[in-house]
Amino acid sequence: MKVYKTKSELIFFLSKIKKDKKSIGFVPTMGALHEGHLSLVEKSMKKNDFTVVSIFVNPTQFDNKEDLGKYPKTFDNDVKLLESVNCDVLFFPSVEEIYNDTIEAENFNFDGLEHKMEGKYRDDHFNGVGTIVKTLFEIVRPNKAYFGRKDFQQLQIVKKMVEKHGLPIKIKGCDIYRENDGLAMSSRNTRLTKEYRESAPFIYKTLKKAKKKIKEKSANEVMEWVRKQFEKHPLLELEYFTIADEKTLETATIIDSGKKYRAFIAVFAGDIRLIDNIRLK
Ligand code: AMP
Repeated sequence: MKVYKTKSELIFFLSKIKKDKKSIGFVPTMGALHEGHLSLVEKSMKKNDFTVVSIFVNPTQFDNKEDLGKYPKTFDNDVKLLESVNCDVLFFPSVEEIYNDTIEAENFNFDGLEHKMEGKYRDDHFNGVGTIVKTLFEIVRPNKAYFGRKDFQQLQIVKKMVEKHGLPIKIKGCDIYRENDGLAMSSRNTRLTKEYRESAPFIYKTLKKAKKKIKEKSANEVMEWVRKQFEKHPLLELEYFTIADEKTLETATIIDSGKKYRAFIAVFAGDIRLIDNIRLK
């Protein structure tokens, strides 16, 4: 696997691939890789001639500077994992390489998607996401880019950005990878203490129960039921739970059989914030 730290080296290398009319798949990540990330890389490898993975902990998408400082960094292990799946190229730029002297996000309009759920609780988060994804897309210019449904709102926002800017890139959503006990894989899971780690599968268990309940109860009743479950929980603190339309991310009060819905959740396990979601039938 080739590892590039500068834009110019990567662009030069990829220009040869593009000249040969080879397709490029791209998987942006913040590192501390796990099987969830690797599933995206493997999907890209299957569908493209060439796969580029980036590792960049993007400062402008963190509303909480402590979370940014404590974000896990496991570069050597990341390289081993990427090599184990035969990834072609790793792009690992510094903050200066991406932002020069001004670490600032651009302002985006994602037609309101950015103000829902994560956008309500994480100031400027999606401007940061938009800025880094757009910058990386301009550097890599992939044919396809792969994003996990674990960050479903991010996936919809990236699709919106590509549509609004008319970028010639296909955005592919990938299923959520989970630990055996149901906890959605996340780089942040490694920061959970034993007690919180043991409690965390409660999140997905509650999502699965909510999915069953929505068959008999109204969306409001299910949202209230979930709130109560977390009120009773001694360790986990619910930030939000909502049932929303997959496309607009608008909270649903009435379930329309012609639309697709998901239940979305954000929970604090101590100072670690975990998110998850589940498709509702
Ligand atoms: P991150 O490194 O957390 O920014 O994630 C990089 C990409 O991997 C994003 O598109 C995430 O949605 C995706 N991802 C992270 N965790 C998972 C998971 N458990 N299952 C599937 N995709 C994931």
